Amino acid sequence: MTQDYDVIVVGFGFAGGVAAIEAHDAGKRVLLVEKNAIPGGISVCSAGGLRIAKDANDAMAYLVATNGGTTPEPVLKVLADGMTTLADYARALCAPVGGTIGLKPNSGNYPLPGYKTFGFAFVEALDGFDVARDYAHVRGAIEGARLFEVVRRNVAKRKIEVKLGTRVERLTKTGDRVTGIVVAGKTIAAKSVVLACGGFEAEPEIQRQHWVLKPVLSAAVDFNTGDGLRMGQAAGAGLWHMWHYHGSYGLKHPDPDYKFGIRVKRLPDWNNAEGLRGDVTMTWILLDQDGHRFMNEYEPYMQDTGHRPFEHYDTSRQKFPRVPAIMLLDADGRARYPISAPTWNDEAVAAKFGKHTPRDLDAAIFAEDETLDAAAARHGIDGAALKRSVDTWNAACDAGNDAAFGRPAGSMLPIRKGPFSTAKVWPVVSNTQGGLPHDREQRVLDPYGAPIPGLYVAGELGSVFGHLYLSGGNIAESFVGGRIAGRNAAA
Ligand SMILES: Cc1cc2nc3c(=O)[nH]c(=O)nc-3n(C[C@H](O)[C@H](O)[C@H](O)COP(=O)(O)OP(=O)(O)OC[C@H]3O[C@@H](n4cnc5c(N)ncnc54)[C@H](O)[C@@H]3O)c2cc1C
Repeated sequence: MTQDYDVIVVGFGFAGGVAAIEAHDAGKRVLLVEKNAIPGGISVCSAGGLRIAKDANDAMAYLVATNGGTTPEPVLKVLADGMTTLADYARALCAPVGGTIGLKPNSGNYPLPGYKTFGFAFVEALDGFDVARDYAHVRGAIEGARLFEVVRRNVAKRKIEVKLGTRVERLTKTGDRVTGIVVAGKTIAAKSVVLACGGFEAEPEIQRQHWVLKPVLSAAVDFNTGDGLRMGQAAGAGLWHMWHYHGSYGLKHPDPDYKFGIRVKRLPDWNNAEGLRGDVTMTWILLDQDGHRFMNEYEPYMQDTGHRPFEHYDTSRQKFPRVPAIMLLDADGRARYPISAPTWNDEAVAAKFGKHTPRDLDAAIFAEDETLDAAAARHGIDGAALKRSVDTWNAACDAGNDAAFGRPAGSMLPIRKGPFSTAKVWPVVSNTQGGLPHDREQRVLDPYGAPIPGLYVAGELGSVFGHLYLSGGNIAESFVGGRIAGRNAAA
């Protein structure tokens, strides 16, 4: 069969962009195919922090402590090593396109071996970039958009061929080897294919089969629908840690045109060794449908694990009594800061909601009642149970000790003054961590652990995080794994 390309890369987020750059720089003819009319994936609405490490052994100790039971150590080692050179790589990408890299120390999320070795690299400035003009379809942190723009400019500068608005349907195989892709029923042949087409945030059917909780709302995108999982499985790939996803709890806008879950305000992470970082008040508590508190609303890295306590299932009543849960705050709490922290990569949502501030979103989402009884009645909760929960909470605030769930004392705020604000709260997925297993060369493995010739994976679709996530780790692995996948696919 004649090859149309040496390397085809599927998906143009961080991982696909970096893989394409690397394969191109190895002297190969590369095609980068993206389903959306606009590239960027989830990557463009991320917070844009690349996890870096000073010492590879410390980074490895931390990754083993947090993921060693689920992901082979040689694979973790590649990421640990890669994090020590990532800032230099980011600088090298930035320099020719007018970007500069900043660094900041930031330890790992849990006080486990090696956690102090980590920091973040981020694009602190980028010439000629205006996020409101250039990424009007995106809402997120400016650092994520800047980092994606650096990757996009590098792809453009190299004149790598990009097909946008083009959904890859399947992989083709000749014998055991992957030999191309199918687009609109037509085969495009290549020596190797890199799948970098993201996770399954927006695929309820795959979630239903692998996750306990349902429904779980997608935080930012509707296009990552697990296509890479299906393509990989049809080509003979196995799966790993499909249960694991990065997410928390969040809100739902009453207008169905706002199709995403809305993450709640990002309070600083903390850990048991160092306590809260600064003076941080969380203004709300969460109650289940019976009016009881059920979790520490401010877990150490709540952005990652905040959804897990929602998993309780009541078999007698055949329901998840915490889905949705109820967020409750009083007038003082409501006045302190807005709760909604919206993110999206979506033109239609941007067109309708782009001008809405977090306060505007809160106003649409939260109901206000003068009394706790009225708030309980609004949500069909027993008023006496709700009042008991509030009394217990207020007593815990007065004592500075949440004996029931261990909320950090400095974060506690009593609920006393009406009007009382309530909203339904749902589990929200930011990004998935399960997917196609790979070896240290990013070769996709079959269920017996053998590589599938010609097939590589990069980024979230083959994430190595199988137990506890390291903030910034998904972007780090998109770059580290993207480089390796691109280089090996080119070889
Ligand atoms: C709000 C938010 C904040 C985040 N912040 C951080 C952070 O600060 N640090 C961090 O490390 N991680 C963060 N993450 C996670 C991180 O952004 C992602 O894990 C990472 O960017 C994934 O990159 P990727 O290239 O693998 O996937 P994506 O960027 O999602 O790219 C995949 C691309 O594949 C395309 N695609 C899908 N199917 C097909 C198909 N059939 N054919 C062609 N193309 C297809 C999609 O359209 C998409 O453009 C955040 C996530 C969210 C939602």
